[in-house]
Amino acid sequence: MNDYQAPADLLKGKVILITGAGDGIGAQAARTYAKHGATCILLGRTVSKLEAVYDEIVNAGSAEPAIVPLDIKGATPSHYQQMTQTITDQFGKLDGVLHNASVLGHLSSFKDIEQQEWLDVMQTNVNGTVFLTQALIPALEKADNASVIFTTSSVGRKGRAFWGTYAVSKFATEGVMQTLADEYQNKSLRFNCINPGGTRTNMRAQAFPAENPDTLKTPADIMPMYLYLMGNDSIDVNGQSLDCQPKR
Ligand code: NAP
Repeated sequence: MNDYQAPADLLKGKVILITGAGDGIGAQAARTYAKHGATCILLGRTVSKLEAVYDEIVNAGSAEPAIVPLDIKGATPSHYQQMTQTITDQFGKLDGVLHNASVLGHLSSFKDIEQQEWLDVMQTNVNGTVFLTQALIPALEKADNASVIFTTSSVGRKGRAFWGTYAVSKFATEGVMQTLADEYQNKSLRFNCINPGGTRTNMRAQAFPAENPDTLKTPADIMPMYLYLMGNDSIDVNGQSLDCQPKR
């Protein structure tokens, strides 16, 4: 589905929450979903970045987004429940979630992983995703066909030396997705993972500082899969982990 050509109105009338919407792939997904008709809820920890994405979306003539300033690392289930209540009050339902926010941590040998960093990466990449999903399910169930997309990585399917904490967090992400997909079979909710593959963002530069970024796909290049999984053309797709760049 990497050559998927989305209709211009694919997401018309849909309300979609994107985490980590201020930068990188999340910012591009928000712009792209808005361009295809969605009302986007931009969740992130750096308000100035969220405001810049908000301005771009409004200036492009798309539906006005909402901003949720939230640091997932410090957020609790009650923050997520309050946010869900606000979404339900304002929009009546939630049609989609793109769980995109993640941190890389430091690459190091497994024996040198610092405990606090392990806990911090798991808090953002795994615990936050789990508690946010739990809180959002009632709003997602109010939509006709809601799509929840988790963001995985190649190192979340096959372990790789020195990628310990991040890799384990992505294995957990795949497990969360599979469990939910099985639980919600034949329901109005579907759960899938997306693996962007090497993409030109800050996180990629942090992981591979010597790499020439011009050799990489941009976030805009990988959007067909993000559109496919969020829109109704993927209504029968559940429990899959799909690659934006199968050969990377
Ligand atoms: P990025 O450029 O670093 O963007 C990550 C976004 O997540 C940023 O907007 C960041 O906020 C936000 N974020 C991080 N921690 C947060 C927290 N505690 N609370 C709220 N927001 C937080 O990364 P990216 O490359 O676009 O990555 C997007 C997703 O793709 C991630 O899940 C990543 O693991 C995955 N991925 C990326 C690649 C790649 O090559 N780029 C490959 C495989 C998988 P700030 O802007 O405030 O920092």
